[in-house]
Order: sequence, then structure tokens, then C-alpha cells
Amino acid sequence: MVRSLVLNATNEPLSVVPGRRGALLVFEQKADIVHESEHALHSERAALPIPSVLRLRYYVHVPYTNSRAISRRAVFARDGHRCQYCGGHADSIDHVTPRSRGGANTWDNVVAACRPCNTRKRDRLLSELPMGLRRAPEAPSRATLLTAAAPVVPDPWVPYLHVRRSA
Ligand SMILES: [Zn+2]
Repeated sequence: MVRSLVLNATNEPLSVVPGRRGALLVFEQKADIVHESEHALHSERAALPIPSVLRLRYYVHVPYTNSRAISRRAVFARDGHRCQYCGGHADSIDHVTPRSRGGANTWDNVVAACRPCNTRKRDRLLSELPMGLRRAPEAPSRATLLTAAAPVVPDPWVPYLHVRRSA
């Protein structure tokens, strides 16, 4: 499915929407195309280009909150798929303060971890182990969350999301 990256009027990335919705925002003159995709929305009379990136003509105020939904994808995206204990490839999620010890399911308590570290840590606190975090976990930026929302980040999105290409 084609997706469109919606930029705020100030060029900040705002959301990822289905390409059809992106095309209609442009058609309704609520947004302008910044980068076209190779796809179009076909109706009986016309073909609307589906934008890869579009910019709203009006500013949307978005309050920043720490309560954004936590997903595995978003945790991996925030931590660059690196284990936050040893720096190896992360394939699991660890609660820094274990749930069984009263740890919350919040951004500052979840990190990407490799299985060996996760297994080694089990339900213990860091103060009980010779392990430490490479950096303190915190809520990810909107751009990081948007990156996690798309299976593949299209090239035209890259300058707006400030992501590093892995390939
Ligand atoms: Zn590890």
C-alpha cells in the first residue's frame, strides 16, 4: 500500500496516511505535493497523483506527550535495533525495572535488548547486576515514531525524518 508522509505547514513531519487520503488532501486544496509518488488514484474521469510527501497549508498544533503508544517497532526504531546493555543486535524488549518488581510499561522503562542480556537480567534490578544502560531511555521523537509506522521508509521521506538508511 502506498503511504503519504504529511508535513505540517512548518515542514515538521506530522503523520503517515494511506496514499488515497494524501491524494484527497491535495485535491481538496488542504495540502500541496512536495514529492509525487509513482502512483495515482484513478477515478472515472481523472487520475489524481498520490503524493509521497505533502505539506498542509495550515498549521496543526500537536502537543508533545510522553504517553505515546509503546510498540515493539517503535522501541526498536528508537534504539536503532541495538541492545541497550551490550550494543549487540536487539531482538527482544526488556523492562529495565521488571514488571514483577513494579516497573511500568513506559518509555523510560523499556529498552531494546538481545536475548542473552534479557535472559541474564531476568527479573532483577540493574543495581543487583553488573550491567548498565548505554543511555537513559526516553520517549522517542515524532519522526522516530513515524519511521516505525512505515514498513519501508521511501527515499523522499528521508530528509524530513532525519533517519539513517541501513542499506
Ligand atoms: Zn545485549
